Amino acid sequence: MNKETPTHVRTLLETESADWSQQDWDLHWMARALALAETAASLGEVPVGAVVVQDNVLLGEGFNQPILSSDPTAHAEVVALRAAAKNVENYRLPNATLYVTLEPCAMCAGAMVHGRISRLVFAAPEPKAGVAQSQETFFERTYLNHRIHVENGVAGTAASQLLSRFFQQRREQKKNDKQKPMDNVGTE
Ligand SMILES: [Zn+2]
Repeated sequence: MNKETPTHVRTLLETESADWSQQDWDLHWMARALALAETAASLGEVPVGAVVVQDNVLLGEGFNQPILSSDPTAHAEVVALRAAAKNVENYRLPNATLYVTLEPCAMCAGAMVHGRISRLVFAAPEPKAGVAQSQETFFERTYLNHRIHVENGVAGTAASQLLSRFFQQRREQKKNDKQKPMDNVGTE
């Protein structure tokens, strides 16, 4: 562990969580990823959140923010991987687990292999662009020089509901915008 890791993340373990099972930890970290997804939603971004954890210590976290940061690569997983790598001053994160609220896309799956994380846990499947199980099983490709252990379903319902709610609200917003009289639309 890097000496510059903030004390609040290091002391997390030494408190009440000594007896937690791996399942408890998985729920704990996914809850944090979900909170990050909520932050994304509140900023008008598609709600996805991710955390990178090693030995149950938080190394980095991120939420989906391509619009805000004018960055097509600013998916939650990439933001979290960058933060974690910077934190430990290593471009590789062996033994790390990445928790994300949604099945990763091709870009993020590739970034995880480059980052050499050992385990991926995602909450909800992404039927359109997910590559862990939906569109393909990317992590099982034989040419990859690194294996990532993949698990899914942790807090899946909560993550799915968050996404549905977001898109529902966005549809309603668009409908309301359309119903506005033209003179309110502005000068675009
Ligand atoms: Zn992605």
